[in-house]
Amino acid sequence: MSRPIVAANWKMNGNKRFAENYLAALEGFDQVDIVIFPPSIVLSDLVRNNRSNVRIGVQNIHEKKEGAYTGEISAEMAFDSGASYALVGHSERRGMFGESEDLVSKKYEACIRAGLTPLLCVGEKENERSEGLAEKVIERQIRRVFKDKVRNLSQQVIIAYEPVWAIGSGLVASLDQVRAMHKYIRSVFRSINEESARTLRVLYGGSLRVDNVESIFAEQEVDGGLVGGASLDPSSFKKICEAAEKIWKQ
Ligand code: PEP
Repeated sequence: MSRPIVAANWKMNGNKRFAENYLAALEGFDQVDIVIFPPSIVLSDLVRNNRSNVRIGVQNIHEKKEGAYTGEISAEMAFDSGASYALVGHSERRGMFGESEDLVSKKYEACIRAGLTPLLCVGEKENERSEGLAEKVIERQIRRVFKDKVRNLSQQVIIAYEPVWAIGSGLVASLDQVRAMHKYIRSVFRSINEESARTLRVLYGGSLRVDNVESIFAEQEVDGGLVGGASLDPSSFKKICEAAEKIWKQ
């Protein structure tokens, strides 16, 4: 059983004071990898105040190393400021900011180049699921990043399955849907890189909350979760981390 990851995506929420107090609640977890994705403007505050095992990541990076890209930050800059993870391909970036699959792939490569661990988000939209296209979409999103060939994947690969219709909507994928898609993600990835597939971790994301997390984490195919809204309440996020620890300790 892989070690679980529980990640908090604050999106465009939180401020310096919120960041300073957040980590205090998360000390003492040693069976779960906890990653916080704050807005990058408070990244350094979190890094400076971090006395725990919690890792800090960025929600977005630019694919280039440096240059005239006003308002952007590179993977190298994030790494230099103490980030060790980056979200790549989040559906809000794909949908609201027009990130193409090609761009997602470049951002994934930029993370590897800079020494950041990318957390690749994939997920189908509601209409794609109702049209029976969910698997096709997920497969395309994964193959586009890994390009059907064995890359130099020295870092462990982490994929978050986040059905777009479940993000921030209060709708959670059913256990059958989660199980089936996580299995499918593993099978697609195995066909690309059998060796890396052995250590692949597949997280679920989409309206995870304290009251639904235990049943999802109890699924064998699930290696943890990416939490948006519920991560804005530190005590809820802590409970979600505790649920992970409890299940994986069994
Ligand atoms: C997310 O943004 O990755 C997410 C899972 O959000 P929420 O938990 O709010 O659905």
